[in-house]
Amino acid sequence: MKYADIILPLAVPQLYTYKIPVELNNKAEIGMRVVVQFGKRKFYSGIIRKLHSDKPKIYETKFIDAILDKKPIVTELHFKFWDWLSGYYMCSLGEILKAALPAGLKLESQTKIYLNSQNIKEIALLEREKIIVLAIEEKKFLTINEINSLLGIKNSLKVVTNLLEKEIIRIEETIEESYKAKLEKYIVLSEKIKTEKDFESAFNKLSKAPKQSDILMNFISLSKLKFNEFENKFNYQKIKKTDLLKKSIASTSILKNLFIKEILKEIEIVIDRIDDNNYVLTKEKTLSEVQQKALCEIENIFEKQDNILLHGVTSSGKTELYIKLIKKYISQGKQVLYLLPEIALTTQIINRLKNIFGNQVGVYHSKFSDSERVEIWNKVYVNENNFSDYKIILGVRSSIFLPYTNLGLIIIDEEHETTYKQFNPAPRYNARDSAIVLAKLHKAKVLLGTATPSIETYFNVLNKKYALVEINKRHKNIELPEILIADVKQARKKKEMKSIFHNILIENMDQALKNKEQIILFQNRRGFSPFMECKTCGWIPKCEHCDVSLTYHKFTNQLTCHYCGYSYQSPTTCLACGDTGMETRGFGTQKIEEEIKIFFPNAKVKRMDLDTTRGKKGYEKIITKFEDRKIDILIGTQMVSKGLDFDNVSIVGIMNADNMLNYPNFRAYERSFQLMAQVSGRAGRNKKQGKVIIQTTQKENEIIKFVVVNAYRRMFNNQLRERLNFKYPPFHRLIKITIKHKNMAKVDSFANLYAIKLRKTFSARILGPEYPIINRIQNWYMKDIFVKMEKKLSITASKKIIISASESLKAQKNYSNIQIIYDVDPI
Ligand code: ADP
Ligand code: ZN
Ligand code: ZN
Repeated sequence: MKYADIILPLAVPQLYTYKIPVELNNKAEIGMRVVVQFGKRKFYSGIIRKLHSDKPKIYETKFIDAILDKKPIVTELHFKFWDWLSGYYMCSLGEILKAALPAGLKLESQTKIYLNSQNIKEIALLEREKIIVLAIEEKKFLTINEINSLLGIKNSLKVVTNLLEKEIIRIEETIEESYKAKLEKYIVLSEKIKTEKDFESAFNKLSKAPKQSDILMNFISLSKLKFNEFENKFNYQKIKKTDLLKKSIASTSILKNLFIKEILKEIEIVIDRIDDNNYVLTKEKTLSEVQQKALCEIENIFEKQDNILLHGVTSSGKTELYIKLIKKYISQGKQVLYLLPEIALTTQIINRLKNIFGNQVGVYHSKFSDSERVEIWNKVYVNENNFSDYKIILGVRSSIFLPYTNLGLIIIDEEHETTYKQFNPAPRYNARDSAIVLAKLHKAKVLLGTATPSIETYFNVLNKKYALVEINKRHKNIELPEILIADVKQARKKKEMKSIFHNILIENMDQALKNKEQIILFQNRRGFSPFMECKTCGWIPKCEHCDVSLTYHKFTNQLTCHYCGYSYQSPTTCLACGDTGMETRGFGTQKIEEEIKIFFPNAKVKRMDLDTTRGKKGYEKIITKFEDRKIDILIGTQMVSKGLDFDNVSIVGIMNADNMLNYPNFRAYERSFQLMAQVSGRAGRNKKQGKVIIQTTQKENEIIKFVVVNAYRRMFNNQLRERLNFKYPPFHRLIKITIKHKNMAKVDSFANLYAIKLRKTFSARILGPEYPIINRIQNWYMKDIFVKMEKKLSITASKKIIISASESLKAQKNYSNIQIIYDVDPI
């Protein structure tokens, strides 16, 4: 008997062994998808990881139900990558599989319930059972969910089980592939029409049907139908059914008559969902001397070293260098992965790449539908002819999972961005760090690019793990922007603030608008969204399910929880003291938008944040409008800080630097520097020097001073010292363990016991347990334990200890449903 070990798309720690039926023996290969039963009635699609002939000793094996692929979709190289991810980020292979495969390649189990018709009439039925039987009679089958809503109850399993026992119904577990190819209907000539004579007689038959002959005439002209004497057949193009009907102003039923008469025929053709043909090929730019020098350095270093940090100031032409490198690698027949931290950025860069590389470039991110993602997956995959449609993938973090076969180069643009880290669900991977491992497996090169390197990456440069190439000049030698500090504290004292704007900002904006220049205002989302507060007693409305204050939305006049999404009506009176003086505090992008309209009523203002960029083209629309100068002032969150390239922005305003600096996290200062430097980098990119105005009450803060003089190295040295003193990365490794349960007391006692257990091995390296800043989300309570360990300690051994300690505690009955989340290298 042959057996297969299967990775199931579940958070189960091990693989499961199944028997391979004889008829599938020759077909099963490692890396293929299979359908298997797991649990009583659940079917899943898993992936074959191992084939062998060792019968499992502990459990009875089931048979594999079906094989879904003709060739493996996961190769040994990808499995190696998955193994590393699951080991390093402390999650199961099943969780990796869930993240790696687009949903369209995973199957869904759907229980369908049918009638056992012969039994119906003889048995007396209860009221509810009758309802079900009648409904199934009408619709052929129902799913459990449909029965729930039919009966208006949460769980109809009991009723269904009774019906099953009475043998009135039967169950069929069907498993359906959710990817469906997109089909389009085309019209061609029927096979019956072979010669010109056939055609003529067909036409004659239509003499009494003018509408039908009209359609046929239109078909001839649209399809350029012609009889070819030499080949003795008709030459023509197939015509879209919709086009033919439009031209003929005829109905489908008239067209059908032509099918019946076997003159025309309808066929269905699989078409691409991804529109790849939206570009104009343009000539590449010639590099400047400084850029050319940097490119040569990179190429030389790659001869002997694999990883390079390209530290180039904003607008120095890093993207132009990437383009040259991409060209080199694809001409060697290699694939290139170009990672970006944010969907918003892909829209600009994809145009720049498509203009050079045409449809050899594919984009991958979450705004594509499942089916579109399957198509992209297929285009990355190398087919039988050793050929993949996409040579270059431009994508966000999840694109590290695409089925590359021969990567030559990975570009990690804006490498410092924390959005490269997946927060939820597992695998909680950092795409930057994972990409370095992926590149090693492919023997590929890695170029990390940024104007503001992360402390970790720059530390790797100092340790000679990465090489360094620098560009210190902006393209065209345009000066970096001038940075002004707007002292909000003093202005408030002197009553010089204009609402939320400092005088300096208002004056500069005014001048820019007069010059027909554009403005970007930046407000980071974190910490300062508007909330309500009672003027008298200070009461702040909080979410009933989470430990967070609610965000005020002016347009709907509602309070919303940004963690669970729950909305509440805004209270008119304070629930604590009954006073009627409820006020909104803090300001988000929406408030800025409103206030601007007061000071600059004629300016065209637009917001770019999560709320205004829903939908697949949300970003693209705003970015294009701004590029076309149809917007004067763009207000945005983090999204506007990264890598966008606009040529007419002269003023950038940072609305509130304080809440970045005050954020309670060891990376707060590093992040503040990066954000401010990056947002500043959007100013004055093409013509003249730009200006940046930073509003703050902490003008003496060292980080603000570093930003003003663009002193990256000083910021780095300063922060590195802090990290060393307080045992943080890059010197120490952090693992955050979150313990979750709906019962607060359980969380407390489990966390305490767990910490005691861990201290036996790790002693002072264990911090906590402590409550996180937000300690309850959707009624789940949380507590964190931090492991802070030296880099030289074995990470594999440590993780084993951490996991087995929690497993042994969870083996106790009252803790069995505690949830534990491991976050390695938390952000
Ligand atoms: P970075 O990626 O370093 O921020 P970009 O590559 O976006 O910089 O360059 C900034 C702007 O300058 C872009 O609009 C780019 O097209 C232009 N640019 C850069 N280098 C050149 C060059 N050698 N020739 C023409 N335009 C260039
Ligand atoms: Zn009150
Ligand atoms: Zn909530």
